[in-house]
Amino acid sequence: MTGRALKERLIARIRAHGPITVADYMAACLADPEAGYYITRDPFGKKGDFTTAPEVSQMFGELIGAFCLQAYLDLGAPGAFQLVELGPGRGTLMADLLRMASLRPEFVHAASLSLVETSPALRKIQEKTLETAPLAPAFRDRFADIPDGPLILVANEFFDALPIHQYVKTVDGWRERMVGLAADGELCFGVGTSRLDDTDLPPAARTAPEGTILETQPAANAIAEEIGARLARHGGAALIIDYGYLKTATGDTLQALYRHTHDDVLAHPGEADLTAHVNFETLARAAQEGGATPMPPLEQGEFLLRLGLLERAGALGSGKSHSVQETIRDAVERLAAPDRMGTLFKVLALSGDGRALAPFDMPIRTQQGFTHRRGGENG
Ligand code: SAH
Repeated sequence: MTGRALKERLIARIRAHGPITVADYMAACLADPEAGYYITRDPFGKKGDFTTAPEVSQMFGELIGAFCLQAYLDLGAPGAFQLVELGPGRGTLMADLLRMASLRPEFVHAASLSLVETSPALRKIQEKTLETAPLAPAFRDRFADIPDGPLILVANEFFDALPIHQYVKTVDGWRERMVGLAADGELCFGVGTSRLDDTDLPPAARTAPEGTILETQPAANAIAEEIGARLARHGGAALIIDYGYLKTATGDTLQALYRHTHDDVLAHPGEADLTAHVNFETLARAAQEGGATPMPPLEQGEFLLRLGLLERAGALGSGKSHSVQETIRDAVERLAAPDRMGTLFKVLALSGDGRALAPFDMPIRTQQGFTHRRGGENG
């Protein structure tokens, strides 16, 4: 099934049953069993639509491996635990993480590896990437399917792919933004009848002008709460990395990426990647309601520098050719510079027992030495 056919199916569905929510539209575009974006393809890399941090450099997964190893040791090096990745993409982060964590063989011996992945196409690629890894993955459809035991979980650019709802400020309150049909029969945005209870909103949202958009992420928050409950019950740590914002704010962050350029959100259902920025405030609150303790989030650049990005880059480049060193320098910049992925991407760590997790317990250190380019990167 092609994306064209998905668009026609969506149009037929709306014609028959009326407009659908932005969340339903997003879910259809990304996860339709026949034509969903992730279900049908490998979207990563130069030929795909976007490049994620693990695909930029092995250093990203290695440093996350160092985080996991420390979290494991802090747990008292249990004899068995669940190592979990949500939305592993091509499996690159896990391969790099395991290479680093293998420095302590007891980590690998104790770990049962689960990959939570819905896409059959990506499961195949993940299996291949991890062929020579010290652990064989078990594939799971949902986080809820992970067996009991202490948990160490990572998720990079997973939560941004979960469906969000949008609300529009109107004369009579916040009403849900819908995808319907224009007079010419094409997909268009409109406003529905469902309303948002605004008692929880920050004051700025309450005085926002008509037409302002506000997003909610019940799907993401529900998973964060499940993770939080699991951590509280069995112990462990979770690391959630994504682009997003630290405080609830208004604004339309729904975006489509099609062959490395921004696209009209409604233009290519199933063919373009569709994401929304993650609200880390409500995500952390949901995990806390589940029973876990969220650490104050860090920006990705700060997080990677604290874990030793510059030192790792130096070691990796030592004795190598000028061009290899140049590639490593460029990767450092892409991952950590404020105008690249360094500040837009946030890192949230959750602790099961409330103890601080390294490197979240260190004072903020300022970032220096980056050149400035215009615009940021988001995948
Ligand atoms: N973490 C990877 C890939 C990010 S893309 C990286 O950094 O490169 C999002 C990933 O989440 C893909 O693997 C996609 O197939 C998966 N995914 C999206 N929605 C999902 C869902 N509801 N359940 C499980 N996996 C999902």
